Amino acid sequence: MAVQRQPHPRQHQHRPGSPAAFRWSVILNSGLSALQLVIGVSFGSLALIGDAVHNLGDVAGLLLGWGAERLSARAPSKRYTYGFGRSTQLASLANAVFILMASAVVLVEGVQRLFEPVEVSAGPVLWAAAIGVAVNLFSARLFGADAGHDLNRRAAVIHLLTDAAVSAAVLIAALVVGFTGWNWLDAATAIGVGLAVAWSGIEILRQSLSIVLDAVPEGIDQAAVEAALRQLPGVLNVHHVHIWALSTSQSALTAHVVRHPGSIDDLDWLHQAKQRLAQLGIAHSTIQLEPPPQEV
Ligand SMILES: [Zn+2]
Ligand SMILES: [Zn+2]
Repeated sequence: MAVQRQPHPRQHQHRPGSPAAFRWSVILNSGLSALQLVIGVSFGSLALIGDAVHNLGDVAGLLLGWGAERLSARAPSKRYTYGFGRSTQLASLANAVFILMASAVVLVEGVQRLFEPVEVSAGPVLWAAAIGVAVNLFSARLFGADAGHDLNRRAAVIHLLTDAAVSAAVLIAALVVGFTGWNWLDAATAIGVGLAVAWSGIEILRQSLSIVLDAVPEGIDQAAVEAALRQLPGVLNVHHVHIWALSTSQSALTAHVVRHPGSIDDLDWLHQAKQRLAQLGIAHSTIQLEPPPQEV
């Protein structure tokens, strides 16, 4: 039996959305960020600048994710024996740092402007925010067209809808500033936007750190995996179980299993164990079989 020769099942990484959806959201979001930055700076709206910073973070996330995905598709080398799957995590880590720094700038500036409001020209700001709503709703439709049950894509759609809501808040604030002349409201909105951006940055940081620090991947239940191993024939004890992510889509396990010889052949047992683990989402497993302790 060629159990050890079995090729590792390869899983595919999926960027959320088709290549066309990806390309369009990069182009549209870059254009949108540039427009919002220029209008925000020229017409005094920090809220709009905050929205631009967020959209810029999205573009950086998409591009970094794309580059890292290409890198992680490369075969493992003699030196990098795990391949480059984790480059996606490094990319998110870098993006999280960028987002957090940018949101800190918006927050500090927002607090300063609360006390010394800057004159805001509501008209252009209103239009730029409206374009933000339109672009994000359109992108959500692009991604949503084939979202189905794919969690990544649904997350992308929810993200885009949230972005549309943020732009809508900037739009409403501009409208109120236009009618009332309350320039401080723009700063207050900017603080809200800055907090939302910081929160998304922390979430990205938390996710990428959990992979960098070898946490058990989300969606895999460590206790259930150990129980599944214990239920296999002849198993007396399972210990030293480690489960970690090789990339966003591939998980690995090492475990020591003490088992009674005799019930079935070791290679057959390993074959069963690997199949069971694959069902639980772990495609890359290494199991050390150990004999039961000698009774003296
Ligand atoms: Zn966004
Ligand atoms: Zn052991």
